[in-house]
Amino acid sequence: KPSLVWFRDDLRVQDHPALLAAVADGAAVGLFVLDEASPGVRPLGAASRWWLHHGLEDLGRSLAELGIPLLLRRGPAATVLPEVLDALGAGAVYWNRRYGGPEREVDAAVERRATADGIHAETFAASLLHEPWTVRTGQGGPYRVFTPFWKAASARPVRSAWGLPDAGRGAVLSLPECPDGEGLEAWGLLPPRPDWAGGLGEAWEPGVAAGEQLLEDFASGPLHHYDEDRDRPDLDGTSRLSPYLRWGHLSPFQVRDRLLAAGGGAGASVFATQVGWREFCWHQLHEHPHLATTNLRREFDAFPWSWPQDGAEEAALTEAWRRGRTGIELVDAGQRELWATGWMHNRVRMVSASFLVKNLGIHWRVGEEWFWDTLVDADAALNAANWQWVAGCGADAAPFFRIFNPNTQAKKFDPERRYISRWVPEAGTPAYPEPVVDLGASRRRALEDLASLRAEQRPPAVS
Ligand code: FAD
Repeated sequence: KPSLVWFRDDLRVQDHPALLAAVADGAAVGLFVLDEASPGVRPLGAASRWWLHHGLEDLGRSLAELGIPLLLRRGPAATVLPEVLDALGAGAVYWNRRYGGPEREVDAAVERRATADGIHAETFAASLLHEPWTVRTGQGGPYRVFTPFWKAASARPVRSAWGLPDAGRGAVLSLPECPDGEGLEAWGLLPPRPDWAGGLGEAWEPGVAAGEQLLEDFASGPLHHYDEDRDRPDLDGTSRLSPYLRWGHLSPFQVRDRLLAAGGGAGASVFATQVGWREFCWHQLHEHPHLATTNLRREFDAFPWSWPQDGAEEAALTEAWRRGRTGIELVDAGQRELWATGWMHNRVRMVSASFLVKNLGIHWRVGEEWFWDTLVDADAALNAANWQWVAGCGADAAPFFRIFNPNTQAKKFDPERRYISRWVPEAGTPAYPEPVVDLGASRRRALEDLASLRAEQRPPAVS
């Protein structure tokens, strides 16, 4: 009987425990389900759909080299999986675990059904160095602060990455027919005309080989001065591995192994901490499945996020921010980089997010949704946790009163204006718009709102 491997956020064949288990059984079949129908599962953004299309092509090729077919199906996974397992006459199903709330419910339903049908179901850890529930405080609860979280996590043993499965452990004799309306072309993940994804294709090559090459290039060069260069959007100082980690073309175990081989140093240690932030964001999402929609610090529920006078004003300001036409150079440069390439440097993400929330007075969820739609690395945990961090309402967040001045940030981190000139060539000319907001006045307003929120929430004095 063949075994089924259900691929999700792990589009690779190396260091893939579920695939290794299936191949050890004998004949294996891969499956990817485009699930936009299960309750609570967030539909992918447009840039993610673009990446997924190419990522699945890449996965299909790699599996074919191992003699393993990849089936593509669309629909609620809890319905699709039993159908495919039945059609294949499969004896087992394997997958690597996911940590989002709705996804875990889907996976539990699939596991229950498979077991009830007499099919062996087994799951593995593959996408995080430390599964969220394995890092616990002395009291047995989750961590709310990064530093102790990462200290506790770093004390735990971590396995090395596993290699490729052996090819040709037995062919699957009969595969179910691909139903009409299924398959990559039919899914229409690529943008319709006009094709806005041209810039994405120039900036990225989705798939395993490109991810491995980036890791190699980074580890043998920029890693060693990452501690100094990582905040500079004008330099190639960071790894750009985020979409490869998001889609699982690379596992964090492979990244960690390569770091260790690069042999320590300040750069490697700061980089390992950033990968630790990735783990912490998932730790948070696991505890708070509604991280993308609900303030973690509930006192911020009463915060007057939206200052613009009316819906039309808010829409115009939001659009200026999205398109990089706010008249604030570093913010505009970042937003244009995002629109053109599906990625933005981390320092600029922080500055741009802070500007939207604290200078324009627009709710962080508006920004989170735009990033979700436009980032090729859009990640359910990292995006939500970082927006809450910048907005000041998240776990271990930067305090709300710490407001970036985008112009000071630009002077510090783009000293020769190379990043700004690249993305906003008309900056400093009459063609460039005036700032849509006064930075000083809006900063004061944000602080006043924070003070009034605190005053309202202070418990009445006991007489
Ligand atoms: P490097 O500096 O090379 O870091 C290596 C890896 O560490 C990254 O690939 C990433 O997996 C992890 N990492 C780095 N910084 C962070 C961080 N602040 N939080 C968590 N993990 C981190 N990252 C995403 O992958 N997806 C998102 O949707 C996302 N949304 C963000 C939204 C906002 C408002 C902000 C401020 C940050 C967001 N980040 C997100 C985090 C960070 O900006 C990106 O991971 C980073 O810029 C990716 O570039 P890199 O791979 O070159 O990073």
